[in-house]
Amino acid sequence: MKEIILLKDGEIVLKGLNRRSFEDVLKKNIKFALKGTGRYEVTSAQSTIYVRPMSDDCDIDEAFERAKRVFGIAALCKAAVCDEKTMESVLESAPVYLEKKLKSVKTFKVEAKRSDKQFPLKSPEICRELGGKLLEIFPHLTVDVHNPELIVYVEIRDFGAYIHCNPEKGAGGIPVGTSGRAAILISGGIDSPVAAYMMAKRGIRLTAIHFASPPYTSRRAEEKVVRLLQKVSRYSGSMTMYTVPFTKLQEKIKNDCPEELFTIIMRRLMMQISEKIAIDNDCQALITGESLGQVASQTIGALGCTDEATDMLVFRPLIGMDKQEIIDISYKIDTYETSIEPYEDCCTVFTPKHPRTRPVLRCVKEAQENAGFDELVAEALDNLKVTKISANDD
Ligand code: ATP
Ligand code: MG
Repeated sequence: MKEIILLKDGEIVLKGLNRRSFEDVLKKNIKFALKGTGRYEVTSAQSTIYVRPMSDDCDIDEAFERAKRVFGIAALCKAAVCDEKTMESVLESAPVYLEKKLKSVKTFKVEAKRSDKQFPLKSPEICRELGGKLLEIFPHLTVDVHNPELIVYVEIRDFGAYIHCNPEKGAGGIPVGTSGRAAILISGGIDSPVAAYMMAKRGIRLTAIHFASPPYTSRRAEEKVVRLLQKVSRYSGSMTMYTVPFTKLQEKIKNDCPEELFTIIMRRLMMQISEKIAIDNDCQALITGESLGQVASQTIGALGCTDEATDMLVFRPLIGMDKQEIIDISYKIDTYETSIEPYEDCCTVFTPKHPRTRPVLRCVKEAQENAGFDELVAEALDNLKVTKISANDD
């Protein structure tokens, strides 16, 4: 029996006149996510995207798992395609396709959706006929319309008749690429991969920026960031990662700035360097994993000083979240175990014993100007390392 994947559009159904272009991006993203699992035809009609296997080597189960991570989809299911769009064909296909599931439950009901109004039977009649047939073939079953263990769905659409059950929740959000591009400042911690995921969910295509300070930070730390981004890219699609050589800048902060301002000046330099990389890569915003009050550099005063360093829009999607809420998402997107691997981040190099939690912007700017970082910033920007991060290669 032929099987396809049906994907129900999510928020894009609200997009009015722009809907077509959102759907086009979504279809492209689905095709990309399914790469390597076989050849498919991807089409859309009536708020549904149809993924039809076109070659014998299609791994439809793997394709389904990948489709679950594509933003813009509210729900999805695998479905059997009836040989013909007739009631006879529905009655023939359903018991075969759902045999295993029907044998494992005691109660069920049939729901029919008939968007092709030419079909000779109306929805209640389809339900009655198929319900009767299933009761006949599986005598252990009873119908429970209020609280069934299994709902058998029959969809009579323009292009055919489909049977399925157990639709699963999709990834939600809107398709990656429909909200522009932004640069995620990614560390090896728990928070920034979650921030990247959250903005990709709102349709942002990502560029990644990582600051490394060898030999204070190791190659393993950078490799860990690559692995984190590979996990994120299963949702966001592929991206480019820029590694900024940050050692000389951090050493200069240590030598030429007041100790209690080390962290805040480092954060400002990160924003300033990131802004330049972001502009060169057509990004319209920066993204960080900051959360209000989490550490000394994330108090309202410290964030004010950090924010002032750039004119660019900064997204901080975790700003109002508790650590546990962030951890819950990191479990869900499977970054948690990688994030807690114990490698040094440049943020933990030269940390002051008593960081200012209420830095005065004027003093911070003065200290930064007196030290003078322009030459080293230019040098760091001349020595960026570029790594291509691709989904599906982990
Ligand atoms: P995370 O878990 O994301 O590391 P954190 O709670 O450890 O966050 P900080 O280390 O103060 O917080 O960093 C705040 C934010 O600054 C991070 O979420 C990230 O966006 C950015 N950041 C920190 N270190 C780096 C780095 N080495 N490279 C790029 N961005 C960084
Ligand atoms: Mg960190």
